[in-house]
Parts: sequence; C-alpha cells; structure tokens
Amino acid sequence: SLLIAFGPVMTTDQFTAPTSRRTHRPLISIVLPVYNERSVLETLHVSILRAVEGYNMDYEMIFVDDGSSDGSSEVLDRMAGKDPHVRVVHFARNFGHQAAVQAGLEHARGDAVVLMDSDMQDAPEAIPRFVDQWREGYDVVYAIRADRKESRLKRMAFAAFYRTLSRIASTPIPQDAGNFGLVDRRVARQIAELQERDRYFPGLRSWVGYRQIGIVVERAARYDGQPRVSFWGLCRLAKTAIFSFSSFPLSVFGVIGMLALGIFTALASFSLFCKLFTNLAIPGWTSHILSASFFGALNALGISILGEYVIRIYDQVRGRPIFVVDSTRNVEDETAAPAA
Ligand code: UDP
Ligand code: MG
Repeated sequence: SLLIAFGPVMTTDQFTAPTSRRTHRPLISIVLPVYNERSVLETLHVSILRAVEGYNMDYEMIFVDDGSSDGSSEVLDRMAGKDPHVRVVHFARNFGHQAAVQAGLEHARGDAVVLMDSDMQDAPEAIPRFVDQWREGYDVVYAIRADRKESRLKRMAFAAFYRTLSRIASTPIPQDAGNFGLVDRRVARQIAELQERDRYFPGLRSWVGYRQIGIVVERAARYDGQPRVSFWGLCRLAKTAIFSFSSFPLSVFGVIGMLALGIFTALASFSLFCKLFTNLAIPGWTSHILSASFFGALNALGISILGEYVIRIYDQVRGRPIFVVDSTRNVEDETAAPAA
C-alpha cells in the first residue's frame, strides 16, 4: 500500500523464534482507545477487517470507549452486536488515553496485543507486518513515524521532546515511536502489572526489555484534523515521560550546588584578600558578598541532598520490579515462559 513505507530493520541480532509462534494460528488482540470518534468507527472496523482477513491469524478488536459523548458508544455496541470479533469496554467517564490503553491491555486475551489509535492515523495495513516480526521471534514491534502530518510547530515540539527524552532517560527510549505497535502477551501482562499511576506507554514498553524492533510506518493525517488529546494533554504526557524515566531534573541541583560552591570559594577568597591585604574594600562589602554567596551555595546543595532522597522515595513508591525475567532453563519458576 502507498500508505506504508517499511524501512530497514533496527535490530540485527540473530535468534530462532519460539516454534509455537510459527506453527499455530495465533489470536491477536487489537486494542483501540476511542474518545468521540463516531464518524470514523465503521470505516475503521472495515479497514481493519480488510487488513487482517486472509492472514493466518485469529483476532479480536477491543474498543475502549473512554467516556465518549457523541454517540460512539451506541455505534460500538451495534458493531459488537453484528461482529463477534468486536469487544467493547465502556468507561464511566473520560479517563484519558493512557487509562484506555491500560484497560485494553488488561482485557486482551490474545497471544500478542496490537495497540493503535482509532482516528485512522495508524494504518491497519501495518498489523500483518507487526505479526510477521513477532513470528520471527520479536516480543515488541513498534512503529517509527516516517513523517508527520501535523503543523510545523507541533513537529518541532515533538522533535525537541524526543531529543530531550533520549538524552536524559535512564533507559533508552526509541525516538519517534508512539503507542502504535505490537507486544507479546508476556510483555502486555508485564506492562499492565506495573503499578505506577502516571503512565507513558512507549517508555514502559522499552523499560520492560525483551527483543524489540522498530519498523518505519507512515502516519496519516487525522481524518477530521481535530485531535482529542489537547495540546496541554500532550504537555502533561511529555512531563510524565520525562519525570518517570529520568531523575535528571532533580539531580541537576547537585551540579548547580557544586558550581555555586566553586563560585562561593572564589568570591570569598577574593573579597577576603581585598579586605585583609588592600584598602579597596568598601565597609560592609566583604560580609555582604560572603553571606550572599555562602547561602546561595548552601541552598543549592541542600536541595540536591533532598533531591537524592526524593529520587529514592519516588523509585520505591513507584514499585517497578527490580528485574524482568525473559526465560529460564532448569529453573522452576511458573511466572517465566519456558525457553524456546
Ligand atoms: N483518546 C482517548 N481518550 C482521550 C483522548 C483520546 O481514548 O481522552 C483516543 C482517541 O480517540 C484516539 C487516540 O486516543 O483514538 C489518540 O488520540 P489523538 O488522535 O487525539 O492523539 P494524537 O494522535 O494527537 O496523539
Ligand atoms: Mg491521532
């Protein structure tokens, strides 16, 4: 299809796929958060059918209706009545995109879970490609956006965000990769079980690890040009990404504190020298300089020490597991999948 251009494979390591993924007919769950998308839902349904029918897989579509108020709920119920592949979860009110993603992961029953937007920006034609990579043995296949159809300003903001995040994040997070992609059921379960409340899915998806690969997928424009996630919503998400995957903003005070200490030492030596060995010092000047620079340095150092504690407290309450097991050999552990 003209919609999709597939670029080079991003990971090169060779391995053999678990045999079960090659032979059996897998069930693929397609998770779709919906917030006021009435006019596109039927087209979306048909285009997903067209993309997955004839491919060797079973599928279910899980529509998570995030408190829609435009009649999307009724359209979804009607679709579910006609097509048993369609499953619907209605939220009691609008809880936000990331919450809808979480609900979808929790309800998915498939061997792998595909996550996509329901505004036709994510091309359903990419789904079989994701599944192919998964059959090859990859546990996470994510779409890398080839180019964006958004405004110039928004594109610049995204570029700045991804560059900042990849520079300061404590685990590498691929650039220009959003929610669109596939995760193996083990990965889906692992992500769904993470306890943290502020969730940035692409970050969590890289954090868990496993074998990951990116595929270049062109991203279409929104069918109605009216994003449901507001600009401030995106800013909040960017903040979540940065504060949940980096302690840089807090630890920066350590650096400021050391700088301030250096400045204090230099100023103190200089003004004391003037006071004691020259007659250049104005009365009151030395004590002023000394106290101002001393308390400046003290503040920054104090904040940096507090910061170190806060980082540790945050780490502790977020309660991410200390490690994630992929597979084991000769080890009895029911939680891990048997080695391929
Ligand atoms: N969405 C949602 N809850 C919200 C806002 C959006 O479930 O509160 C859904 C929306 O219907 C769409 C997806 O999340 O399927 C992405 O929304 P949008 O297109 O506004 O985000 P963008 O493409 O700009 O990142
Ligand atoms: Mg969109």
